[in-house]
Amino acid sequence: MDRLREAVAAIAQRQEEMFDLLQTLVSHPTVSPPARNSDTAQQVLTEELQKLGFEVDRWTVYPGDDNIVGRLTGTAPQKAKSLIVNGHIDVAEVGDDAAWTHPPFSLTRGEDGRLYGRGVADMKGGLAASLFAIKMLREYGVSLQGDLIFQSVIGEEAGEAGTLVAIERGYTADYAVVVDSSDLHIQGQGGVITGWITVESPETLHDGMRARTIHAGGRVLGASAIEKMAKILAALQDLERHWAVMKSYPGFPPGTTTINPAVIEGGRHAAFIADRCSLWITVHFYPNESYEEVVKEIEDHVNRAAAADVWLRENPPSFRWGGRSMIEERGEIFPSLELDLEHPALAVLQAAYEQQLGHAPAVDMSPSVTDAGWFAHAGIPAALFGPGELSQAHSVDESIDPVQLVQFAQIMAVFIATWCNQEKIEE
Ligand SMILES: [Zn+2]
Repeated sequence: MDRLREAVAAIAQRQEEMFDLLQTLVSHPTVSPPARNSDTAQQVLTEELQKLGFEVDRWTVYPGDDNIVGRLTGTAPQKAKSLIVNGHIDVAEVGDDAAWTHPPFSLTRGEDGRLYGRGVADMKGGLAASLFAIKMLREYGVSLQGDLIFQSVIGEEAGEAGTLVAIERGYTADYAVVVDSSDLHIQGQGGVITGWITVESPETLHDGMRARTIHAGGRVLGASAIEKMAKILAALQDLERHWAVMKSYPGFPPGTTTINPAVIEGGRHAAFIADRCSLWITVHFYPNESYEEVVKEIEDHVNRAAAADVWLRENPPSFRWGGRSMIEERGEIFPSLELDLEHPALAVLQAAYEQQLGHAPAVDMSPSVTDAGWFAHAGIPAALFGPGELSQAHSVDESIDPVQLVQFAQIMAVFIATWCNQEKIEE
């Protein structure tokens, strides 16, 4: 594979071209929220992919936010393994940039040699470096027998289901690598789901009725939805503690499985007894748990607690789980990803890493969540592997080590060239 060796060498020699592409992506402020601003950045990637021979499918997820998926059909797609490379084009909000010493929407090199700009670590660096790796493979004539699918999706920062929508559109492969910030660790992840629990009274009572709903002889079965929610809060805390005691997963501190009461909304006015109260919770779970199971555990526990209350028994709480956008629906899901350590693609990725860097990669668990869980949820084996430290993601003066970007691109070039030329095993 002399051509592959040349392509890998060219990644280092021509790294300024990769930084130019990163500069172009950083210069498009695709901040989310408010989102709906990624069209021009997606256009850049569309054209880059087309230049490399990809057939590009572009469609609107939300007005102003299109997903793009490029497919480079392999020379023998029936025979060889296929791959999805996935990244999100949106970046965390910047807000007041007064604290930034570097302009957020321009790629600048600091005195420390690092590259600065919003999204360099999370995760325009991963997108630019993956694309540059593919470009070098193309230019140096490394052919791929299997299909290569490159996805640039929208909305990840606001819990928007860009990756889910791409999966629903039918894109699948033998393996997927999400190139979000992992500091070149190969990672799985836990999951997150948000939910709303609502207590609602069938009738609205005046504040003056309170005495009759709570005192002897009042003979009015009424309740404050806010006070009833306090019982549900207590039940959630019991369950959270039970999980902390009983559940564990290698690579996570015990008690990671939290139920955070993040937002509470209730009551209408001081002149009424609160007839409605909603609680917005954020639930974290381990890689070997599905959000469907976790939701069932919570509903079961809350319903039992409600059944022990005379009013809630008659007026049980309702649940609304997840959602496809924190902006549109105030709800999100990040499914978990359990790494399959026996998967042949993981072995190829580990070998590519070792070949380039001379030591084995760290294989562990991300303390955060990414879109990688959607692949696992859809039955597509996947791993999280990208440049950039998580501490840089969303931070003021976000930066990345350019050496790591080059290393990442080189590893990806070797990985793609090897995996997409590996024979499919008949099952
Ligand atoms: Zn990210």
